Amino acid sequence: PIQNATSEEHLTARKKHISDILSISYKKPIAMQKAAFQYMFDASGNTFLDAYNNIPHVGHQHPLVVEAAMRQMNQLNTNTRYLYAQLAEYAEQLLAKFPSSLNKVFFVNSGSAASDLAIRLAICHTKSHNIMVMEHGYHGNSQIGIDISDYKFSNTKGQGQKPFILKASLPDEFRSPYAKAVGENHAQEVRQQLDDFEGKVAAFIAEPVVGCGGQVPLAPGYLKAIYPLVREQGGVCISDEVQTGFGRLGDVFWGFEKQNVVPDIVILGKPMGNGHPIGAVVTTDEIAASFEKGVEFFSSFGGNPVSCEIGKAVLGVIAEEELQKNAFDVGNYYMSSLKELQKQHPEIGDIRGSGLFIGVDIVVPGTKEPNTKLAQYLKNELREKYILVSTDGPFDNVIKSKPPLCFSKANVDQVVDTIQDILRKR
Ligand code: PMP
Repeated sequence: PIQNATSEEHLTARKKHISDILSISYKKPIAMQKAAFQYMFDASGNTFLDAYNNIPHVGHQHPLVVEAAMRQMNQLNTNTRYLYAQLAEYAEQLLAKFPSSLNKVFFVNSGSAASDLAIRLAICHTKSHNIMVMEHGYHGNSQIGIDISDYKFSNTKGQGQKPFILKASLPDEFRSPYAKAVGENHAQEVRQQLDDFEGKVAAFIAEPVVGCGGQVPLAPGYLKAIYPLVREQGGVCISDEVQTGFGRLGDVFWGFEKQNVVPDIVILGKPMGNGHPIGAVVTTDEIAASFEKGVEFFSSFGGNPVSCEIGKAVLGVIAEEELQKNAFDVGNYYMSSLKELQKQHPEIGDIRGSGLFIGVDIVVPGTKEPNTKLAQYLKNELREKYILVSTDGPFDNVIKSKPPLCFSKANVDQVVDTIQDILRKR
Protein backbone atom coordinates (compact mmCIF):
# COMPACT_ATOMS: atom_id res chain seq x y z
CA PRO A 1 0.00 0.00 0.00
CA ILE A 2 1.06 3.57 -0.72
CA GLN A 3 1.27 4.37 3.02
CA ASN A 4 4.42 2.24 3.29
CA ALA A 5 5.87 3.36 -0.03
CA THR A 6 9.33 4.79 -0.59
CA SER A 7 9.66 8.47 -1.53
CA GLU A 8 10.15 7.41 -5.17
CA GLU A 9 6.95 5.36 -5.15
CA HIS A 10 5.09 8.26 -3.55
CA LEU A 11 6.40 10.57 -6.28
CA THR A 12 5.32 8.25 -9.08
CA ALA A 13 1.83 7.86 -7.59
CA ARG A 14 1.55 11.59 -7.03
CA LYS A 15 2.67 12.61 -10.49
CA LYS A 16 0.07 10.37 -12.15
CA HIS A 17 -2.79 12.77 -11.42
CA ILE A 18 -1.28 15.70 -9.54
CA SER A 19 0.10 18.60 -11.56
CA ASP A 20 3.80 19.53 -11.41
CA ILE A 21 2.70 23.14 -10.82
CA LEU A 22 2.43 22.09 -7.15
CA SER A 23 5.96 22.26 -5.76
CA ILE A 24 7.61 19.82 -3.36
CA SER A 25 10.01 20.82 -0.58
CA TYR A 26 13.68 19.80 -0.67
CA LYS A 27 15.89 18.10 -3.24
CA LYS A 28 15.14 14.90 -1.32
CA PRO A 29 11.37 15.00 -0.66
CA ILE A 30 10.10 13.67 2.67
CA ALA A 31 7.23 11.21 3.06
CA MET A 32 5.64 12.44 6.28
CA GLN A 33 3.58 10.19 8.46
CA LYS A 34 2.81 11.83 11.79
CA ALA A 35 3.45 14.98 13.76
CA ALA A 36 3.17 16.22 17.32
CA PHE A 37 3.82 19.78 18.56
CA GLN A 38 7.08 20.98 16.93
CA TYR A 39 8.10 17.52 15.70
CA MET A 40 7.29 15.64 12.51
CA PHE A 41 7.92 11.96 11.87
CA ASP A 42 8.61 10.46 8.47
CA ALA A 43 7.62 7.06 7.17
CA SER A 44 11.02 5.57 8.15
CA GLY A 45 10.66 6.66 11.76
CA ASN A 46 12.96 9.70 11.61
CA THR A 47 12.10 12.70 13.79
CA PHE A 48 12.29 16.16 12.24
CA LEU A 49 12.31 19.41 14.17
CA ASP A 50 9.77 21.67 12.50
CA ALA A 51 11.35 25.12 12.56
CA TYR A 52 9.33 26.17 9.54
CA ASN A 53 5.58 25.65 9.52
CA ASN A 54 3.49 28.55 10.78
CA ILE A 55 0.15 26.80 10.30
CA PRO A 56 0.23 24.34 13.26
CA HIS A 57 0.43 27.45 15.41
CA VAL A 58 -0.12 25.89 18.84
CA GLY A 59 1.67 22.68 17.82
CA HIS A 60 0.95 19.87 15.37
CA GLN A 61 -1.99 17.72 16.50
CA HIS A 62 -2.43 19.66 19.73
CA PRO A 63 -4.69 17.36 21.76
CA LEU A 64 -7.13 20.10 22.81
CA VAL A 65 -7.64 21.17 19.19
CA VAL A 66 -8.02 17.56 18.01
CA GLU A 67 -10.45 16.88 20.85
CA ALA A 68 -12.56 19.96 20.02
CA ALA A 69 -12.73 18.91 16.36
CA MET A 70 -13.69 15.32 17.16
CA ARG A 71 -16.30 16.32 19.72
CA GLN A 72 -18.04 18.76 17.40
CA MET A 73 -17.73 16.50 14.32
CA ASN A 74 -19.65 13.94 16.31
CA GLN A 75 -22.45 16.36 17.10
CA LEU A 76 -23.27 18.83 14.39
CA ASN A 77 -21.63 20.26 11.32
CA THR A 78 -23.83 22.54 9.26
CA ASN A 79 -23.88 26.01 7.76
CA THR A 80 -24.61 29.53 8.97
CA ARG A 81 -28.24 29.40 7.75
CA TYR A 82 -29.10 27.53 10.96
CA LEU A 83 -28.72 28.86 14.47
CA TYR A 84 -26.06 27.35 16.72
CA ALA A 85 -24.15 28.85 19.63
CA GLN A 86 -20.62 28.27 18.31
CA LEU A 87 -20.76 30.97 15.63
CA ALA A 88 -21.58 33.85 17.96
CA GLU A 89 -19.28 32.45 20.68
CA TYR A 90 -16.27 32.25 18.41
CA ALA A 91 -16.99 35.67 16.84
CA GLU A 92 -17.16 37.16 20.34
CA GLN A 93 -13.88 35.56 21.46
CA LEU A 94 -12.05 36.46 18.27
CA LEU A 95 -13.24 40.07 18.14
CA ALA A 96 -12.26 40.53 21.79
CA LYS A 97 -8.67 40.40 20.50
CA PHE A 98 -9.26 43.45 18.23
CA PRO A 99 -9.67 47.21 18.78
CA SER A 100 -13.36 48.03 19.28
CA SER A 101 -13.80 49.59 15.80
CA LEU A 102 -13.22 46.16 14.25
CA ASN A 103 -16.44 44.45 15.28
CA LYS A 104 -17.79 42.46 12.35
CA VAL A 105 -16.40 39.15 11.09
CA PHE A 106 -17.00 37.06 7.96
CA PHE A 107 -15.79 33.47 8.20
CA VAL A 108 -14.37 31.69 5.14
CA ASN A 109 -12.01 28.72 4.57
CA SER A 110 -8.66 30.08 3.52
CA GLY A 111 -6.47 33.14 3.43
CA SER A 112 -7.20 33.39 -0.31
CA ALA A 113 -10.96 33.44 0.23
CA ALA A 114 -10.41 36.07 2.92
CA SER A 115 -8.25 38.38 0.77
CA ASP A 116 -10.69 38.01 -2.12
CA LEU A 117 -13.60 38.99 0.13
CA ALA A 118 -11.62 41.84 1.71
CA ILE A 119 -11.10 43.40 -1.73
CA ARG A 120 -14.80 42.94 -2.54
CA LEU A 121 -15.68 44.77 0.70
CA ALA A 122 -13.30 47.60 -0.16
CA ILE A 123 -14.66 47.94 -3.70
CA CYS A 124 -18.22 47.86 -2.45
CA HIS A 125 -17.56 50.44 0.27
CA THR A 126 -15.54 52.93 -1.79
CA LYS A 127 -17.17 52.40 -5.22
CA SER A 128 -13.68 52.32 -6.67
CA HIS A 129 -11.68 49.32 -7.88
CA ASN A 130 -8.05 50.50 -7.90
CA ILE A 131 -5.88 48.77 -5.34
CA MET A 132 -2.49 49.75 -3.97
CA VAL A 133 -0.36 46.72 -3.12
CA MET A 134 3.03 46.08 -1.57
CA GLU A 135 6.10 45.10 -3.59
CA HIS A 136 6.69 41.32 -3.22
CA GLY A 137 3.42 40.89 -1.29
CA TYR A 138 1.34 37.71 -1.47
CA HIS A 139 -2.33 37.46 -0.58
CA GLY A 140 -3.88 34.44 -2.25
CA ASN A 141 -4.52 32.09 -5.14
CA SER A 142 -7.87 33.44 -6.45
CA GLN A 143 -7.81 35.71 -9.51
CA ILE A 144 -8.17 38.76 -7.25
CA GLY A 145 -5.51 37.24 -4.99
CA ILE A 146 -3.07 37.02 -7.88
CA ASP A 147 -4.00 40.50 -9.17
CA ILE A 148 -2.98 42.01 -5.81
CA SER A 149 0.11 39.81 -5.26
CA ASP A 150 3.27 41.29 -6.75
CA TYR A 151 5.07 38.06 -5.78
CA LYS A 152 2.91 36.27 -8.38
CA PHE A 153 2.05 38.84 -11.05
CA SER A 154 5.63 40.13 -11.39
CA ASN A 155 7.10 36.65 -11.67
CA THR A 156 8.57 36.04 -15.14
CA LYS A 157 5.81 33.44 -15.62
CA GLY A 158 3.13 35.70 -14.08
CA GLN A 159 0.25 37.65 -15.60
CA GLY A 160 1.85 41.08 -15.18
CA GLN A 161 0.55 44.12 -13.34
CA LYS A 162 -3.08 44.97 -14.11
CA PRO A 163 -3.95 48.61 -14.93
CA PHE A 164 -6.01 49.00 -11.74
CA ILE A 165 -3.05 48.08 -9.53
CA LEU A 166 -0.58 50.55 -7.97
CA LYS A 167 2.53 49.18 -6.31
CA ALA A 168 4.25 50.62 -3.23
CA SER A 169 8.01 50.03 -2.93
CA LEU A 170 8.98 47.76 -0.04
CA PRO A 171 10.18 49.71 3.02
CA ASP A 172 12.93 47.16 3.72
CA GLU A 173 15.48 48.50 6.19
CA PHE A 174 18.19 46.14 4.91
CA ARG A 175 17.94 46.68 1.15
CA SER A 176 16.16 50.04 0.83
CA PRO A 177 17.92 52.65 -1.33
CA TYR A 178 17.34 55.10 1.54
CA ALA A 179 20.05 55.04 4.19
CA LYS A 180 17.81 56.41 6.94
CA ALA A 181 14.19 57.33 7.72
CA VAL A 182 13.26 54.33 5.56
CA GLY A 183 9.60 54.27 6.62
CA GLU A 184 9.07 57.98 5.99
CA ASN A 185 10.93 57.97 2.67
CA HIS A 186 8.95 55.06 1.25
CA ALA A 187 5.73 56.65 2.53
CA GLN A 188 6.73 59.82 0.69
CA GLU A 189 6.95 57.81 -2.54
CA VAL A 190 3.39 56.60 -1.95
CA ARG A 191 2.22 60.16 -1.34
CA GLN A 192 3.64 61.08 -4.75
CA GLN A 193 2.10 58.05 -6.45
CA LEU A 194 -1.33 58.87 -5.03
CA ASP A 195 -0.98 62.53 -6.04
CA ASP A 196 -0.02 61.56 -9.59
CA PHE A 197 -2.79 58.95 -9.92
CA GLU A 198 -5.89 60.15 -11.69
CA GLY A 199 -8.40 57.83 -10.05
CA LYS A 200 -9.13 56.94 -6.46
CA VAL A 201 -7.57 53.98 -4.67
CA ALA A 202 -10.18 51.75 -3.00
CA ALA A 203 -7.70 50.00 -0.74
CA PHE A 204 -4.11 49.74 0.35
CA ILE A 205 -3.17 46.18 1.31
CA ALA A 206 0.02 45.00 3.01
CA GLU A 207 1.34 42.40 5.41
CA PRO A 208 3.03 43.94 8.49
CA VAL A 209 5.97 41.59 7.84
CA VAL A 210 6.18 40.76 4.16
CA GLY A 211 6.59 36.98 4.12
CA CYS A 212 7.24 36.22 0.45
CA GLY A 213 9.32 39.42 0.24
CA GLY A 214 11.85 37.64 2.49
CA GLN A 215 10.41 38.09 6.01
CA VAL A 216 10.72 41.85 5.77
CA PRO A 217 9.15 43.86 8.62
CA LEU A 218 7.74 47.14 7.28
CA ALA A 219 10.12 49.88 8.44
CA PRO A 220 8.97 51.70 11.60
CA GLY A 221 6.50 54.53 11.04
CA TYR A 222 5.54 53.33 7.57
CA LEU A 223 1.86 52.40 8.06
CA LYS A 224 1.34 55.35 10.39
CA ALA A 225 2.27 57.60 7.46
CA ILE A 226 0.46 55.59 4.75
CA TYR A 227 -2.95 54.98 6.35
CA PRO A 228 -4.01 58.67 6.53
CA LEU A 229 -2.93 59.20 2.89
CA VAL A 230 -5.09 56.30 1.72
CA ARG A 231 -8.07 57.39 3.82
CA GLU A 232 -7.80 61.07 2.78
CA GLN A 233 -8.43 60.12 -0.85
CA GLY A 234 -11.36 57.87 0.12
CA GLY A 235 -9.77 54.42 0.41
CA VAL A 236 -9.61 51.81 3.17
CA CYS A 237 -6.58 50.14 4.77
CA ILE A 238 -6.24 46.37 4.81
CA SER A 239 -3.80 44.44 6.97
CA ASP A 240 -3.09 40.87 5.88
CA GLU A 241 -2.45 39.10 9.16
CA VAL A 242 -2.51 35.58 7.70
CA GLN A 243 1.10 35.05 8.73
CA THR A 244 1.65 37.70 11.39
CA GLY A 245 -1.48 37.20 13.49
CA PHE A 246 -2.34 35.31 16.67
CA GLY A 247 0.69 36.29 18.75
CA ARG A 248 3.49 34.97 16.54
CA LEU A 249 5.29 38.33 16.62
CA GLY A 250 5.66 38.01 20.39
CA ASP A 251 5.20 41.56 21.61
CA VAL A 252 1.85 42.00 19.87
CA PHE A 253 -1.11 39.80 19.01
CA TRP A 254 -1.59 41.42 15.57
CA GLY A 255 1.11 42.78 13.27
CA PHE A 256 -0.62 46.14 12.75
CA GLU A 257 -0.12 46.91 16.45
CA LYS A 258 3.62 47.11 15.83
CA GLN A 259 2.99 50.08 13.55
CA ASN A 260 0.51 51.78 15.91
CA VAL A 261 -2.34 51.78 13.43
CA VAL A 262 -5.84 50.34 13.31
CA PRO A 263 -6.80 48.95 9.88
CA ASP A 264 -10.31 49.07 8.40
CA ILE A 265 -10.15 45.46 7.25
CA VAL A 266 -8.05 42.55 8.54
CA ILE A 267 -7.42 39.24 6.77
CA LEU A 268 -6.91 36.07 8.81
CA GLY A 269 -6.00 32.49 7.90
CA LYS A 270 -3.28 29.89 8.37
CA PRO A 271 -2.79 29.66 12.20
CA MET A 272 -6.43 30.36 12.96
CA GLY A 273 -7.46 26.69 12.79
CA ASN A 274 -4.03 25.14 13.51
CA GLY A 275 -4.23 23.37 10.12
CA HIS A 276 -8.00 23.09 9.84
CA PRO A 277 -8.97 25.37 6.94
CA ILE A 278 -10.41 28.56 8.43
CA GLY A 279 -10.00 32.14 7.26
CA ALA A 280 -11.80 35.34 8.15
CA VAL A 281 -12.27 38.96 7.28
CA VAL A 282 -12.65 41.32 10.22
CA THR A 283 -13.98 44.79 9.55
CA THR A 284 -15.91 47.79 10.82
CA ASP A 285 -19.68 48.20 11.16
CA GLU A 286 -19.59 50.84 8.47
CA ILE A 287 -17.84 48.71 5.83
CA ALA A 288 -20.01 45.69 6.67
CA ALA A 289 -23.11 47.92 6.28
CA SER A 290 -22.02 48.93 2.75
CA PHE A 291 -21.59 45.25 1.84
CA GLU A 292 -25.00 44.39 3.30
CA LYS A 293 -26.65 46.59 0.66
CA GLY A 294 -25.55 44.11 -2.01
CA VAL A 295 -26.35 40.45 -2.69
CA GLU A 296 -26.33 37.80 0.05
CA PHE A 297 -22.93 36.53 1.15
CA PHE A 298 -22.73 32.79 1.76
CA SER A 299 -19.85 30.38 2.36
CA SER A 300 -20.82 26.69 2.54
CA PHE A 301 -18.17 25.89 5.13
CA GLY A 302 -17.26 29.30 6.56
CA GLY A 303 -18.23 29.58 10.22
CA ASN A 304 -19.50 26.01 10.56
CA PRO A 305 -19.69 24.70 14.14
CA VAL A 306 -16.67 22.40 13.76
CA SER A 307 -14.48 25.24 12.48
CA CYS A 308 -15.75 27.52 15.24
CA GLU A 309 -14.96 24.96 17.95
CA ILE A 310 -11.48 24.51 16.51
CA GLY A 311 -10.97 28.27 16.35
CA LYS A 312 -12.08 28.60 19.97
CA ALA A 313 -9.72 25.79 21.02
CA VAL A 314 -6.78 27.52 19.28
CA LEU A 315 -7.50 30.82 21.06
CA GLY A 316 -7.87 28.88 24.32
CA VAL A 317 -4.49 27.14 23.94
CA ILE A 318 -2.69 30.38 23.00
CA ALA A 319 -3.97 31.94 26.23
CA GLU A 320 -3.65 28.89 28.50
CA GLU A 321 -0.10 28.01 27.42
CA GLU A 322 0.97 31.67 27.17
CA LEU A 323 2.22 31.05 23.67
CA GLN A 324 2.51 34.70 22.72
CA LYS A 325 4.90 35.17 25.64
CA ASN A 326 6.80 32.05 24.58
CA ALA A 327 7.07 33.48 21.04
CA PHE A 328 8.51 36.63 22.58
CA ASP A 329 11.02 34.89 24.89
CA VAL A 330 12.13 32.13 22.55
CA GLY A 331 12.07 34.49 19.55
CA ASN A 332 14.40 36.96 21.27
CA TYR A 333 16.71 34.12 22.27
CA TYR A 334 16.64 32.83 18.67
CA MET A 335 17.51 36.27 17.24
CA SER A 336 20.35 36.84 19.71
CA SER A 337 21.80 33.35 19.11
CA LEU A 338 21.71 33.98 15.36
CA LYS A 339 23.37 37.38 15.87
CA GLU A 340 26.20 35.66 17.79
CA LEU A 341 26.61 33.25 14.88
CA GLN A 342 26.63 36.16 12.43
CA LYS A 343 29.78 37.52 14.13
CA GLN A 344 31.74 34.49 12.88
CA HIS A 345 29.92 34.08 9.58
CA PRO A 346 29.67 37.13 7.29
CA GLU A 347 27.50 35.04 4.93
CA ILE A 348 24.70 35.96 7.32
CA GLY A 349 23.87 39.43 6.05
CA ASP A 350 20.80 40.25 8.12
CA ILE A 351 18.67 38.69 10.82
CA ARG A 352 15.21 40.17 11.06
CA GLY A 353 11.71 39.59 12.26
CA SER A 354 9.87 39.53 15.51
CA GLY A 355 8.99 36.75 17.95
CA LEU A 356 8.92 33.44 16.13
CA PHE A 357 8.80 35.04 12.67
CA ILE A 358 12.44 35.13 11.64
CA GLY A 359 14.32 35.68 8.40
CA VAL A 360 18.04 35.08 7.90
CA ASP A 361 19.29 36.88 4.79
CA ILE A 362 22.19 34.94 3.25
CA VAL A 363 24.59 37.11 1.26
CA VAL A 364 27.94 37.13 -0.47
CA PRO A 365 30.28 38.13 2.41
CA GLY A 366 30.98 41.83 2.64
CA THR A 367 28.06 42.71 0.33
CA LYS A 368 24.26 42.65 0.34
CA GLU A 369 24.26 40.51 -2.77
CA PRO A 370 21.80 37.63 -2.28
CA ASN A 371 23.56 34.28 -1.94
CA THR A 372 20.79 32.01 -3.18
CA LYS A 373 23.09 29.04 -3.67
CA LEU A 374 24.28 29.02 -0.08
CA ALA A 375 20.75 29.53 1.27
CA GLN A 376 19.54 26.53 -0.74
CA TYR A 377 22.55 24.50 0.45
CA LEU A 378 21.79 25.37 4.08
CA LYS A 379 18.11 24.46 3.71
CA ASN A 380 18.90 21.09 2.17
CA GLU A 381 21.72 20.32 4.61
CA LEU A 382 19.47 21.18 7.55
CA ARG A 383 16.94 18.73 6.14
CA GLU A 384 19.68 16.08 6.12
CA LYS A 385 20.18 16.89 9.81
CA TYR A 386 16.43 16.54 10.48
CA ILE A 387 15.63 20.24 10.79
CA LEU A 388 12.92 21.80 8.64
CA VAL A 389 13.29 25.39 7.43
CA SER A 390 12.52 26.99 4.08
CA THR A 391 13.71 29.86 1.92
CA ASP A 392 11.87 32.84 0.47
CA GLY A 393 12.27 36.35 -0.88
CA PRO A 394 12.61 37.61 -4.47
CA PHE A 395 16.03 35.90 -4.67
CA ASP A 396 15.06 32.90 -2.55
CA ASN A 397 18.07 33.62 -0.34
CA VAL A 398 16.29 34.25 2.96
CA ILE A 399 16.01 31.35 5.36
CA LYS A 400 12.65 31.51 7.06
CA SER A 401 11.89 30.05 10.44
CA LYS A 402 8.32 30.37 11.70
CA PRO A 403 7.87 27.35 13.95
CA PRO A 404 4.87 26.32 16.04
CA LEU A 405 4.75 28.66 19.03
CA CYS A 406 5.62 25.87 21.49
CA PHE A 407 9.21 25.98 20.11
CA SER A 408 11.75 25.91 22.97
CA LYS A 409 15.18 27.42 23.62
CA ALA A 410 16.64 23.91 23.33
CA ASN A 411 15.06 23.71 19.85
CA VAL A 412 16.71 27.05 19.00
CA ASP A 413 20.10 25.70 20.14
CA GLN A 414 19.65 22.68 17.90
CA VAL A 415 18.91 24.87 14.86
CA VAL A 416 21.66 27.43 15.47
CA ASP A 417 24.32 24.84 16.40
CA THR A 418 23.48 22.86 13.29
CA ILE A 419 23.69 25.93 11.03
CA GLN A 420 27.08 26.69 12.60
CA ASP A 421 28.25 23.16 11.98
CA ILE A 422 27.15 23.27 8.34
CA LEU A 423 28.82 26.64 7.72
CA ARG A 424 32.07 25.48 9.34
CA LYS A 425 32.31 22.21 7.45
CA ARG A 426 31.36 23.68 4.11
N1 PMP B 1 -1.94 35.99 2.74
C1 PMP B 1 -0.69 35.67 3.14
C2 PMP B 1 0.17 36.71 3.77
C3 PMP B 1 -0.21 34.37 2.96
O1 PMP B 1 1.02 34.06 3.36
C4 PMP B 1 -1.05 33.40 2.36
C5 PMP B 1 -0.58 31.97 2.15
N2 PMP B 1 0.78 31.79 1.97
C6 PMP B 1 -2.33 33.79 1.96
C7 PMP B 1 -2.74 35.09 2.17
C8 PMP B 1 -3.27 32.82 1.29
O2 PMP B 1 -3.72 31.88 2.18
P1 PMP B 1 -4.21 30.43 1.72
O3 PMP B 1 -3.04 29.69 1.20
O4 PMP B 1 -4.81 29.87 2.98
O5 PMP B 1 -5.28 30.62 0.70
